[in-house]
Amino acid sequence: MTRTAKIPFLDLVTPHQELKAELLEVVEKALGNAGFIGGPMVEDFEREFAKFCDTRYCVAVNSGTDALRFAFMAADIKPGEIIVTVPHTFIATTEAISQVGAHIAFVDIDEQTYTMDPEKLRDYLDNRCTLDPASGKLREKASNRAVSAIVPVHLYGQTADMDPILELADKYGLAVIEDACQAHGAEYFSRKDGQWKKAGTMGRAAAFSFYPGKNLGACGEAGAINTDDEEMAKRMKMIRDHGQAKKYYHDIEGYNGRLDAIQAGWLSVKLRHLSNWNKARRDLAHGYHELLAEAKDSVAIPVEAPWTKGVYHLYVIRVQDREALQSALAEAGISTGIHYPIPLHLQKAYAHLGFKKGDFPVTERVASEIVSLPMFPQLQQEQLREVAKRVKEFVSSHVS
Ligand SMILES: *Cc1c(COP(=O)(O)O)cnc(C)c1O
Repeated sequence: MTRTAKIPFLDLVTPHQELKAELLEVVEKALGNAGFIGGPMVEDFEREFAKFCDTRYCVAVNSGTDALRFAFMAADIKPGEIIVTVPHTFIATTEAISQVGAHIAFVDIDEQTYTMDPEKLRDYLDNRCTLDPASGKLREKASNRAVSAIVPVHLYGQTADMDPILELADKYGLAVIEDACQAHGAEYFSRKDGQWKKAGTMGRAAAFSFYPGKNLGACGEAGAINTDDEEMAKRMKMIRDHGQAKKYYHDIEGYNGRLDAIQAGWLSVKLRHLSNWNKARRDLAHGYHELLAEAKDSVAIPVEAPWTKGVYHLYVIRVQDREALQSALAEAGISTGIHYPIPLHLQKAYAHLGFKKGDFPVTERVASEIVSLPMFPQLQQEQLREVAKRVKEFVSSHVS
């Protein structure tokens, strides 16, 4: 037997070694002027990231979770109102909803793309909600709560199908806040407008995370909210900085949610590489697609809908008996992940919401079969071939 080199799920060391000189320069600069919070490095990054995303404004904050929370606050979502999202996402999406005192409503995902199923959203809004003639606001019939926003999640680097989601939001006067935390640079083809659009440009605002493992990652915690809405941008800047528009003049109570200057400087250095890194991820994904196509009866590869250009934050396949596949790959020195094993509606943290198994069957089925394969821009072709070979070996020895 030949010894296989260990193939990590994600390599965060190599890119930082490659960029070390530039990253250290940022630290030198910050130590030189002691401008650790806010300031020109943060403003430069905000300008650069807004440009990258094709939005007018970018408000840099300390995490993707706070980006979502501040966006909800700036969109004037009130305690007690309902925000609709999907149960197949990272818990930060729903934590932010609860943190503003809003209520979580779930709609199921599409089985091909793993993002919000617009038909399920339509069914929820049309049939389980009703327009209150007095206020003109949409209310959920069962709880009589106002519905105020929709959060589509661009999961794994692929955008949700935004046209029908935006149309429904428009019909009922709901705010759309995109969770773009996994989709820096992903694109969506709007059939309605006949053009490609960047993730983060389609809703009232969009939240991004720069957690180290994301497509654009800081060397610590960081996030941003992008928007074209000047008023919202202003409010989010106040919210992240204790509600002050001017030092010690607090118009509202806010948070300590600012971004460190060093993180912003590091993000600016890395942003220059993001397009190439995203392209490398796409090329690797297409490599996996081709190699795994032979096993298509037992391995479901990611489906890239014609209206999306994904940036493959993750490369997620579906198989029967995924725990056995994970063990077989681990034995071959290949690390994998599961994003995410327990649907949010079945998490202990949400037991009080009263959901049960069977409420969101697509999410539940998907969550029990998914495996994320190694995916990062520095993954080598031979490593990719090795992973694909081991996956194929596993399924061919496992045919039932
Ligand atoms: C990473 C992530 C977040 C939260 O971002 P943090 O920066 O870790 O707070 C939110 N939503 C999704 C879908 C994510 O992947």
